[in-house]
Amino acid sequence: MSTMPQCRLCGAPLIHTFVDLGMSPLCESYVPQEQLDEAEVFYPLHVRLCEACLLVQLPAYVSGEQIFSDYAYFSSYSDSWVEHAKRYADAMIDRLQLTSASLVTEVASNDGYLLQHFQAAGVAVLGVEPAANVAEAARARGIRTEVQFLGADTGQQIAARYGQADHVVANNVFAHVPDIRGFAAGLRALVKDEGTVTLEFPHLMRLIERRQYDTIYHEHFSYLSLLTSSRALATAGLRVVDVDELDTHGGSLRVYARPEENGGEPTERVKAVLAAEEAAQGFAPAVLKIKSDLLRFLLTAAEQGHSVAGYGAPGKGNTLLNHCSIRSDLLSYTVDRSPVKQGKFLPGTHIPIYAPERLAETRPDYILVLPWNLREEISRQLSYAGSWGGKLVLPIPELEIISVG
Ligand SMILES: [Zn+2]
Repeated sequence: MSTMPQCRLCGAPLIHTFVDLGMSPLCESYVPQEQLDEAEVFYPLHVRLCEACLLVQLPAYVSGEQIFSDYAYFSSYSDSWVEHAKRYADAMIDRLQLTSASLVTEVASNDGYLLQHFQAAGVAVLGVEPAANVAEAARARGIRTEVQFLGADTGQQIAARYGQADHVVANNVFAHVPDIRGFAAGLRALVKDEGTVTLEFPHLMRLIERRQYDTIYHEHFSYLSLLTSSRALATAGLRVVDVDELDTHGGSLRVYARPEENGGEPTERVKAVLAAEEAAQGFAPAVLKIKSDLLRFLLTAAEQGHSVAGYGAPGKGNTLLNHCSIRSDLLSYTVDRSPVKQGKFLPGTHIPIYAPERLAETRPDYILVLPWNLREEISRQLSYAGSWGGKLVLPIPELEIISVG
């Protein structure tokens, strides 16, 4: 019996489930051919909501060091990110009035793709990057970089060695640190009393509204809102003073924080996003409603002797079926156009996968469409099911049964 996990922000016991997606392997744990017969490690993908501070979170089954120490992603490989980075640097230099006398320190600075634009504008830069191989790539392009994993102590050490920064950047890293308080303390140590910290992270509200299940994975420890990120930063004496809403990663926030002694009054934008988050609390039960509506439909169909088959074997289907605990007694099989998947079984649920011709042979009363994002295309492909009265079932964003043909 495992012990009750505790909130990484406030320490309260995590009693409340945000969503329990069952057991799942680490999303970066790709299995090579020669390991297919070996046991695969699954961890609970059980996202909790802290009722005391409202932080939505996954317990850390793997350490941040483990994830980041040989992280293979090089930001400069993506052209759109490099372009985004240039616009970002220009905007920050203008907004924060950075000059040749300023220092910009970036945490999780990757290969220097962002800092190069500040440096080109004459601003001094320092990268803090946990992965040694990635830091080496940054140094090769002339970006001064420390190999460090940011915490309270390392933040102080870096500031003592290089000085505190006018602007500290932490983009797409806050959600991935297990020790969110230590990381916030590290940010505070790195920034001058009159400086600014900016952070970007996916916005929990967008995940809920758009049912972005696929952004839930083990390396994504915290699912942040403006409210909870503000609370986390406040533990280190940083006050959120402004926020931008961005389209990146399905909907992100860019938060501006300053040491509280120089924080000042938050903008109207901060108040507006906080108010919208409060109104969005009611969206969380919608995730459970998808599960209960789908299960109720499948149980009723089984009782009435109606047959149900699936269409498609996409990754998001596995998350949904594992989340809903649907096995072959409720969904006898699924089909997929990919010959690679035919003859195999879905992970976790072990539902068999056949070629699409199986549908016409067995004529199921209902076809559960797993790649629900392709509804128009699949409705056309499956119009022939109308000849035997077969109907399509779409589970997300809410259960819908449609006739075809
Ligand atoms: Zn909490």
